Amino acid sequence: MDYYYKQPRYFSKFRCIGGECTESCCDGWTITWTQEELDRLNTIDCPEEFRDLIERSFSKNTKPGSDNYVVNLVNEFYAQNGELVLDERALAEGKCPFHDNETGLCLIQKNYGEKYLGSVCTQYPRRYYNRDQIYIRSCSTSCPAVVDILLKNKDAAEMETVIARDVQKLSGKSTVRDTVEAVEKSPYIKKRLEIIDFYTELFNKFDNIEDSIVLGALAAKKITDTVKTINDADNIPSILNSYKKQFSADSILDSIKGIESNYKLKFLIINNLVYQYFGTRKDYIDISMLHDGEQLIPERYLEGKAKFAKAFEGREYALRNVAINMFLDIFVQLNMTQGSFFETYSVFTAFVAVLQVFACAIGYESDDVEKKFIKITAMLNRGMSHNKERADKVLEKMKELGLTTPAHLALIIK
Ligand code: SF4
Repeated sequence: MDYYYKQPRYFSKFRCIGGECTESCCDGWTITWTQEELDRLNTIDCPEEFRDLIERSFSKNTKPGSDNYVVNLVNEFYAQNGELVLDERALAEGKCPFHDNETGLCLIQKNYGEKYLGSVCTQYPRRYYNRDQIYIRSCSTSCPAVVDILLKNKDAAEMETVIARDVQKLSGKSTVRDTVEAVEKSPYIKKRLEIIDFYTELFNKFDNIEDSIVLGALAAKKITDTVKTINDADNIPSILNSYKKQFSADSILDSIKGIESNYKLKFLIINNLVYQYFGTRKDYIDISMLHDGEQLIPERYLEGKAKFAKAFEGREYALRNVAINMFLDIFVQLNMTQGSFFETYSVFTAFVAVLQVFACAIGYESDDVEKKFIKITAMLNRGMSHNKERADKVLEKMKELGLTTPAHLALIIK
């Protein structure tokens, strides 16, 4: 029996940049190891200090139902008014104890080889989802090397289907397979492959991702209104097909293109969502230079937008490619369990809109727009794909603000 990978074109090209990476993926995350992986690590022949380090670096995972271990992250102290303090930021950004600050390399991998790493470490940022003979593979947008490829290659986010020759390697725990309970809770995932095909094709159709997202919102709303049970999910392909036909009609696209951007209102909403998402933390990105405390300063916003566009002149697909990958992060990995289909789509739209505003802030203040954009995109997505609570908070806020229809999504994305 043949197996296939459905993957964005960049997937086979992706390589971790290791020591050159500025946003090392093991910082600030819960990294889990299985008993078997830890036992294998304990077989290495190493100096006494390294054995001590291994002993100090793992704790039993206290999460209910877990039988694995977590890496004890090491906190760093930050200088504040000449004093070293262990603040909230330090706690949130603990580093993996095996991460060598000087070389940026993992000490286990560097000294003893990749075979002694846990699967979470070797697999990241790759993700796998399996249904029957198809494996969907993608890489998380939280990795700066992934963002870099997306920004440099126009066709990077187009999907391809290739024959899978090494599928036995994926039989481990790291591949997501839907359980019966998951499908009952979120019937849309029964047609995940069709959904991924539809949206990636739609988003890749135009360089301008904003119009595609609004078109996609119409289909998302219809799916939510129609699909309430597992049996209803069988209607999804025909819903998507009918929208596919409609989207080929110029009149729909013209009417979406005709929606004027109300960027002042958009900024007010996004500023609110950014606060909801990051709280008062400004170390990711500070967008306060774009407003006067209450209102947007339009000249700055527009100047930032123009400078960002200039930095990506000739690569108008840049934001589109990043948005498609964010879509894959949410719709391949998260099992869409955070709300209805339309609500999940709304959160995706909000994250892309936040990134658009970040892009304006970066354009306005940064001398190296591309480098800063890569960093911020990775940081935004690090929170998004690894913290469902935050995404839920954003959704809650969107509901509170009454952003519940495709027209509202047009308001925040246009
Ligand atoms: S974030 Fe990406 S490039 Fe950086 S260390 Fe991790 S996998 Fe490598």
